Amino acid sequence: MQQLSSGIPEMMVINFKEPDTYGHASDSLGYVAAIQRTDQYVGSIVQLLQTHVAYAGKTTIIITNDHGRHTAGWSTGYVGHGDACEGCRHIEFLAISPDFKQGVTITTPYEQRDIPATIAFLFGKPWTYGQGRIMLDLFKD
Ligand SMILES: [Zn+2]
Ligand SMILES: [Zn+2]
Repeated sequence: MQQLSSGIPEMMVINFKEPDTYGHASDSLGYVAAIQRTDQYVGSIVQLLQTHVAYAGKTTIIITNDHGRHTAGWSTGYVGHGDACEGCRHIEFLAISPDFKQGVTITTPYEQRDIPATIAFLFGKPWTYGQGRIMLDLFKD
């Protein structure tokens, strides 16, 4: 939080690895608790970004996963990930931005590689070498 309050970065990526660690340890209670703690951390960060004078009203926040987890009943279930099962192919994606529609659920199927393409677009940068597509229906008309 200190870096966010004083450094005012142009872009920041924060990786919360605790749920994945507990998942791989097959610790279901720890896994759920880690998800709850991560939700609290994310909530604190979002609150800071939406109230701090340097960020409020001009900051895009994207909350997502770097991977899903195996579908229940498949392979090792929530303990593992990394194949093409239904659970592994789905991630969460929550985006808050003054540039995006508000309170809308976008149902267009996107791929993970579409996220950096959209971020490059937000920064006004070309996405020359990436294969993703810009998630245009997130944006206000
Ligand atoms: Zn993992
Ligand atoms: Zn899987």
